[in-house]
Amino acid sequence: MKIFSELETLAGFSGASKPGVTRVVFGQSDMEAHTWFKLLCIGAGLEVREDAVGNTFATWKGSEPQLARVGTGSHIDAIPHSGKYDGTVGVLGGLEAIRALKATGFRPRRSIELLLFTSEEPTRFGIGCLGSRLLAGVLDTDAADRFEDTEGKPLAEIREQAGFSGTLDTVKLPPGYYHGFVELHIEQGPLLERDRVQLGIVTSIAAPSSFRLTIEGEGGHAGAVLMPQRRDAFLAAAEIALAVESAARATGAIDTVATCGVCEVFPGVINGIPSRVKLEFDIRDTDTQRRDAVVKALEAACNRMRAKRGATIQMHTLNSDAPATCDPTLIDVLKRACENEGCSYSLMVSRAYHDSLFLSRIAPVSMLFIPCNAGVSHRPDEYASPQDISNGVRVLADALAQLSQ
Ligand SMILES: [Zn+2]
Repeated sequence: MKIFSELETLAGFSGASKPGVTRVVFGQSDMEAHTWFKLLCIGAGLEVREDAVGNTFATWKGSEPQLARVGTGSHIDAIPHSGKYDGTVGVLGGLEAIRALKATGFRPRRSIELLLFTSEEPTRFGIGCLGSRLLAGVLDTDAADRFEDTEGKPLAEIREQAGFSGTLDTVKLPPGYYHGFVELHIEQGPLLERDRVQLGIVTSIAAPSSFRLTIEGEGGHAGAVLMPQRRDAFLAAAEIALAVESAARATGAIDTVATCGVCEVFPGVINGIPSRVKLEFDIRDTDTQRRDAVVKALEAACNRMRAKRGATIQMHTLNSDAPATCDPTLIDVLKRACENEGCSYSLMVSRAYHDSLFLSRIAPVSMLFIPCNAGVSHRPDEYASPQDISNGVRVLADALAQLSQ
């Protein structure tokens, strides 16, 4: 399979020293990788088209091209100092699957399309899955064009410079565009390896709600202000964080997770009472109602801290995407594909979110997971074995063949 050397080549388009990979969307490495990928697709006899945000479609025309297409694909942008398998396995694996089908003389009835999504990672614009959100039509396109990168440059200018022009309204796919979409991806978790299962078939994709809290109390001298007089912003923050933890545990569901990953204390000195704290929460679940219950608990904790500690609290929603349920027919197709290829599988939840989460708004989706070493991802030592990659590619090819008939 060519995919193994292609994964190495793709990892070479990087702003980080090996084995780390950094490929920020629309940056030099990303654009070089993009051009290289297009040439590979053209070399495989696919028709390539790009939209106004750089999502790239490589199509193998079916004998009835007017029918809804069968899609597969993922992303190639990589967060700073990450590994070489996240996203890339789904892109190059999709290409490998198409080449393998072509080599057998297979002729699809529905067109099969390989999709490279723009900016799955939030590194540059602070929002993940930019390309797939636009394809699904879930973003206000004018607002999206004003998204600024880390240097304050708007998306409109950046994509234009990268050679992607036209209005973002044109990115949204028409209803019924895809008959089904399957994304191949590394698991990014430890379960498949632990259970010695070859592949995972994803039944639902969890989605985060994320919030930024600004909590204000009153600063003062750590010695001079006595305890009864204090309005310590950090202690209010601490109580809120613990309340969110207990609410997440209280749902009783393994799929509910809540994290307070940002806590910035101002002024941040040992002898000063904290006057202001910034907290950021990420609350995820596969079930919107359960997730909302934790969000409610967060709001209630804020109210309690306003009363109990005299804190002024502002809560800002950074993001609130609904989780997705994968399509039962696609899940059956993947099960059959695993059986055809002699691969063991388990049904599982995707706890990270992917472009498929947004495509699920407009198309039936499922995902196929391959094991990754120790569940490690977003790190230079991210690793998936050639055997596991080849299993994923063969099962993907089988599923694409089934779906395109
Ligand atoms: Zn990914």
